[in-house]
Amino acid sequence: MQSGDQIHQVRQATDIVELIGQQIRIQPKGREFVALCPFHDDSNPSMTVSPTKQIYKCFACGAGGGAFDWMINYHKMTFPEALRFLAERAGITLERRGRESGDQPNDRQRMSEATEHALGWFRATLGRPQGATARAYVEQRGISPEMVEQFQLGCAPDAWDDLAQDVAANRWDPRSFRSAGLIHGRQSGSGDIDRFRHRLMFPIFDGLGRPIAFGGRILPRQTPSDREEAKYLNSPESALFNKSATLYGLHLARNEIGKRRCAVIVEGYTDVIACHQHGLSHVVATLGTALTTQHVGVLRRFSEKVVLVFDADEAGQKAADRAVEVFLGGELDVAVSILPDGLDPASLLEQADGAARFEALLSEATDALDYQFQRVADEYRGASTMAGQHRIAEQYVDRL
Ligand SMILES: [Zn+2]
Repeated sequence: MQSGDQIHQVRQATDIVELIGQQIRIQPKGREFVALCPFHDDSNPSMTVSPTKQIYKCFACGAGGGAFDWMINYHKMTFPEALRFLAERAGITLERRGRESGDQPNDRQRMSEATEHALGWFRATLGRPQGATARAYVEQRGISPEMVEQFQLGCAPDAWDDLAQDVAANRWDPRSFRSAGLIHGRQSGSGDIDRFRHRLMFPIFDGLGRPIAFGGRILPRQTPSDREEAKYLNSPESALFNKSATLYGLHLARNEIGKRRCAVIVEGYTDVIACHQHGLSHVVATLGTALTTQHVGVLRRFSEKVVLVFDADEAGQKAADRAVEVFLGGELDVAVSILPDGLDPASLLEQADGAARFEALLSEATDALDYQFQRVADEYRGASTMAGQHRIAEQYVDRL
């Protein structure tokens, strides 16, 4: 916990007009500012932001408060998150109280800096000659330049130690890059090599839009490599990156999720990007893990409903079963939508009427309990013996 003094200091250092003005469109009107209220469906500017009172207030729906309320209500942050965000923005270092280890925050901070540097480096590489294969791949996947910007895509070049060399050349601290899982020592010989090589880089952000990790997709090669290479490679988990609590695209989706009171969860990076590109910006993805109770905890803060979208294949069905079980324990309405055979969200959205079909699938999503019952009923009918049927029925009752 921080002292009241520090909260006061952060509030003093924050100009609410500047804060809100950076996030939504506001216009001067007399001594105050007005904006379309983001808390209700506003057609004429009903919200006033007052520089003298340092508050916002909507005269139509009654939403209002100070800078902290804005971060909590508009960005769906907790109070500690809002405090950290506003303090950082104002250049105020919060004193940590309690028994947290003194080294941990510094470590985290250094890893965070390394991740920021790497993000800039991967993005710059995408624009350089070494980024040609990645640029061609982006185009072939139909990802628009706007989405490349929004999701800050980058490229890890086809080389052993380009990043490691630039870490040294820029006199960045290699230890932070190692703890963030960006480079690691060679097995034989000296020096470091890059973790991500010849990959399209998808930076992963926390809820405030700060980079915490990367996912890298292997790029095509003209001659097949003799090395075994995973199709997708993620940053290792660290003090910065907790895979089971992170949702890809959440920082870009949270406003729309809050507006619709509904979040859509798909399976991969490119699916999230395809959805946002087609105007469905309440879509996020898990990071190659099943859904966890931590995800539920995050989503519950600004959503009432979750629609899980899965491919029709067996793996997708199994993932759907597991996900439903996690969500049944939380306090969210859950629906499941299984895509038509052979389609993923990106390939569906590429089709002429894709966005409309996808929206229709979402609105027709099956309630999770019904979905699970249907699955069990199918299994039950498929069982060859009465003992088998009995076992399936028992398992279903146990789950409930
Ligand atoms: Zn309002």
